[in-house]
Amino acid sequence: MRAAGNVLRGLIFDESLLMSIASIGAFIIGEYPEGVAVMLFFKIGELFQNSAVSKSRKSVAALTDIRPDRANLKIGDELVETDPRDVQPGDVIVIKAGERIPLDAKVIAGNSVIDTSALTGESVPRSVFPGVEILSGCVNIKGPLTAEVTKEYGESAASKILDLTENAVAKKAKTENFITKFAKYYTPVVVGLAALISVIPPLVIPGAGFSDWIYRGLTFLVISCPCALVVSVPLSFFGGIGGASRKGILVKGSNYLEALAKTEIVVFDKTGTLTKGVFEVREIRAVGMGKDELTELAAYAESYSDHPISVSLKKAYGKKIDTGRINDAEEIPGMGVRAVVDGKTVAAGNVKLMEKMNVSCADAGPAGTVVHVAAEGVYAGYILIADEIKKDARKAIADLKTAKIRKTVMLTGDAKDVGEMTAKEIGIDKVYAELLPGDKVAKTEELLLQRSAKGKLVYVGDGINDAPVLATADIGVAMGGLGSDAAIEASDVVIMTDEPSKISEAVKISRRTLGIVKQNIVFSLAVKFGVLILAAIGIASMGAGVAADVGVTLIAVLNATRALGRREPNKFLPN
Ligand code: ADP
Ligand code: MG
Repeated sequence: MRAAGNVLRGLIFDESLLMSIASIGAFIIGEYPEGVAVMLFFKIGELFQNSAVSKSRKSVAALTDIRPDRANLKIGDELVETDPRDVQPGDVIVIKAGERIPLDAKVIAGNSVIDTSALTGESVPRSVFPGVEILSGCVNIKGPLTAEVTKEYGESAASKILDLTENAVAKKAKTENFITKFAKYYTPVVVGLAALISVIPPLVIPGAGFSDWIYRGLTFLVISCPCALVVSVPLSFFGGIGGASRKGILVKGSNYLEALAKTEIVVFDKTGTLTKGVFEVREIRAVGMGKDELTELAAYAESYSDHPISVSLKKAYGKKIDTGRINDAEEIPGMGVRAVVDGKTVAAGNVKLMEKMNVSCADAGPAGTVVHVAAEGVYAGYILIADEIKKDARKAIADLKTAKIRKTVMLTGDAKDVGEMTAKEIGIDKVYAELLPGDKVAKTEELLLQRSAKGKLVYVGDGINDAPVLATADIGVAMGGLGSDAAIEASDVVIMTDEPSKISEAVKISRRTLGIVKQNIVFSLAVKFGVLILAAIGIASMGAGVAADVGVTLIAVLNATRALGRREPNKFLPN
């Protein structure tokens, strides 16, 4: 019935039809035990396949099971349980302790602690209080929170991450496409050959009986079924994607998982990618005003930006920002910000910004990351800030070298001395500094020419200004925790833990998955070919053929599940 249904849907040469022809054929020529064997073995094979597929599907599904199913909508004094899809930005919701945050929102009342591990892999809970933005998918641990919804369901973090993983399976790897095409031509050819084997010899060879040759033709047909390949290849990629996400690496498609194995050049952004992006103030020099006044001016100018520098300056200022005093704020990527504070135009950023604003800042300031501030075109001083290198940055580069990656490069918008110092400390081969976002794209295009025909270039970044480069590179990798939405959107791989050392891990997982895929292809084709010949010359029986087929499928499927990696406690799973 399934074969008939598939034929009606245009899927003529699938395994159901092959098996039906074989078993019905066996009954017609009186080989009853063989006919039963075909069906029995086929069913056993299918059983194993299904359990393997559903096992790996489940582990991926569980990982991303952050779908919020209800929101407590506050209407007057009452709480109404509502589908999160029906809640609009501006509505007020209450998240009780223990509940998952259903939509991205801003806290308006209540103090609590939230577990962000489902989104970021970060296990240390974050404390939240009025004014803080909270993302859907996180779990409220301590006390009730009242929050104003800022994004509708489809735009919220949880549903974006879910989309991402679900679509991953639809993007097929080249090997996968090859197998589908291969099966499309291979199966009809084999059916044709089986027909020839059954019909020609009895007509040509004197004394050859029809039933003997039909039997050989049918055996040939059963063995030829390409199930092992068709099932195990996508399953291996699926396993690889699942195994990677267990480690906090979200790969958006099998094609990217396949490409990662051929990585030759890895290009990193500096701030937020190799460094923590948490700056500390080292020195303040104010010109014509007090240090506190300068800090306040800078914090106000930066108030609308989410750049790591802005966030750090606002933290250093420490007081609440009165947004009523700011008018017109603009971010100038790679340079800084400009805003109207108390009616005065304030610029805060690097030397390039000062040049752009026609402000002379006598010298470039001390070595390091310097934020110059100007008010109404008059230089007001600078704030020297310093960032910390991420704990695993050195290891990340060392691991890439061990994995035989040819070249590591750092592109940064920061000052030359800071860039060179960081690169030296981490062990990166080459550094290009003081780049505007456009320069980063141009440099990446230059580097793309240095890879071999099959080699791939990986770009790793976190900021809004990295989004165009992420799209230019063969594979764009974004930092999922610190990273801006734009970067996550433009990327092909997301690292939820923000650890650069996950890059070499991703390359390893990719190479292992491809290795498994190759083993399966070679192994199943070799066995198949051998048994096909044996069947054609009449040595292999139909039962042996089916057993070989089921055996190969089973081994290939078991081998494919290895791609999922070892079972270890999944710290990214919400409890
Ligand atoms: P990176 O490429 O290292 O991630 P960016 O391109 O984001 O750095 O920024 C490059 C430089 O531009 C920073 O080092 C800083 O000097 C300046 N800059 C960018 N954004 C800001 C901002 N919001 N405030 C102050 N300076 C900024
Ligand atoms: Mg950056």
